[in-house]
Amino acid sequence: MTSLSSRRRALVVGLGISGIATAIGLRRAGWEPVIMERAPGRRPGGYFVVLFGAGRAAARRLGILDALPDRSPPGAITYTVDRAGTRRPGLGFGDLPVPPRAMLRGDVERAAFAALPPDVEIRYATTPTRVEQDAAGVEVTLDQGGDSVTERFDLVVGADGLRSTVRRLVFGPDGRYLHRLGYMIAATALPGPVGGLAPHEGASPATPATCPAPCAPGRRGCART
Ligand SMILES: Cc1cc2nc3c(=O)[nH]c(=O)nc-3n(C[C@H](O)[C@H](O)[C@H](O)COP(=O)(O)OP(=O)(O)OC[C@H]3O[C@@H](n4cnc5c(N)ncnc54)[C@H](O)[C@@H]3O)c2cc1C
Repeated sequence: MTSLSSRRRALVVGLGISGIATAIGLRRAGWEPVIMERAPGRRPGGYFVVLFGAGRAAARRLGILDALPDRSPPGAITYTVDRAGTRRPGLGFGDLPVPPRAMLRGDVERAAFAALPPDVEIRYATTPTRVEQDAAGVEVTLDQGGDSVTERFDLVVGADGLRSTVRRLVFGPDGRYLHRLGYMIAATALPGPVGGLAPHEGASPATPATCPAPCAPGRRGCART
């Protein structure tokens, strides 16, 4: 077993699913991961996520597959519904030859977090403001709840999502890496079942709507219900 003092130290920025998974993997490989999360606590929110084969294999390797529920209702039916309210049979995930396992993002976050060794250090309300690599490692300045501290690590992993601060600090402005496709998705949990649909029934609109400006003027692709 590697002693704590001889372990190489890794900074993992972001306590999302990829940050938690990275920390689990690093610890297994003998590293000492330290996770820093900008939010003041865990972020268990999110809507539905489906696990296909590759996701299932990744979850198995992480050791969390058995902890992930399958929330697909038995006998699920999907309809397409036109503007007049006419229903026609549609295709849903359950109609695929090997249906994926459906769950909420929070289910994955919870299962991954539970698999994280309890002695992995997590610092909330903390974000990097400077990342400087030299021949021996990386020096990182951190904003920890308003205090600025500088620490050394052997590795820095940016697991801080779409507009990664780590990527911006190391590789430059977002504009070089983000390519907007002109689409926007909004999702929300409804307070109750949609009128006229049973809990095992789903619906998607038969007619794509035109996105209103400034999302993507004149472009088709947003689904409005
Ligand atoms: C609350 C939430 C809900 C989501 N819901 C869904 C969903 O329902 N379905 C789906 O398919 N995808 C969802 N996603 C996106 C999905 O998690 C990602 O597409 C995918 O899982 C990649 O995750 P990630 O860990 O790389 O990044 P993310 O999930 O974006 O996690 C990044 C983490 O890094 C933290 N962070 C960001 N910037 C900094 C910083 N400067 N310093 C420190 N920490 C930082 C964020 O607070 C976040 O916790 C959601 C993401 C979040 C954060």
